[in-house]
Amino acid sequence: MAALPPESSNCPHCGAPNPVSAEVCAYCGGRIPAVRVETPPISPPLHDDFRLVTPVEPPSRLWPVLLVLGILLIIVGIALLAVAPSVHQSVESFNNICTQNPYCQPQSDPSGAMSAGGVAAVIVGVVLVVVGAYLRSR
Ligand SMILES: [Zn+2]
Repeated sequence: MAALPPESSNCPHCGAPNPVSAEVCAYCGGRIPAVRVETPPISPPLHDDFRLVTPVEPPSRLWPVLLVLGILLIIVGIALLAVAPSVHQSVESFNNICTQNPYCQPQSDPSGAMSAGGVAAVIVGVVLVVVGAYLRSR
């Protein structure tokens, strides 16, 4: 039983050596599983694992991106909102002096657009952080 020729397989019921092609044991009559039937089940689980892992991974990779992007947008938005008043002040003081000079072109005030952009960036950033936190908790 220990030294088996490669062209024979052990009967799972009585342990007697049988030809690989035998479906039934020549000694006890029990069923012998064919060798080539035993090998294929090893590869399908690999495919199943791949199919299982693929749909799960996108959300788990997405949430850190959403969190980082959202936090960046919130920082940029707050920075825009913080800078907008001083931009408004400097443009206003420049234009006040400008009115005394007939050759000076008054500057347009970008602080309104900066405030609007800042508010929009903070809102989008908060939404991204909330979505990222939700994906993380799943
Ligand atoms: Zn047998």
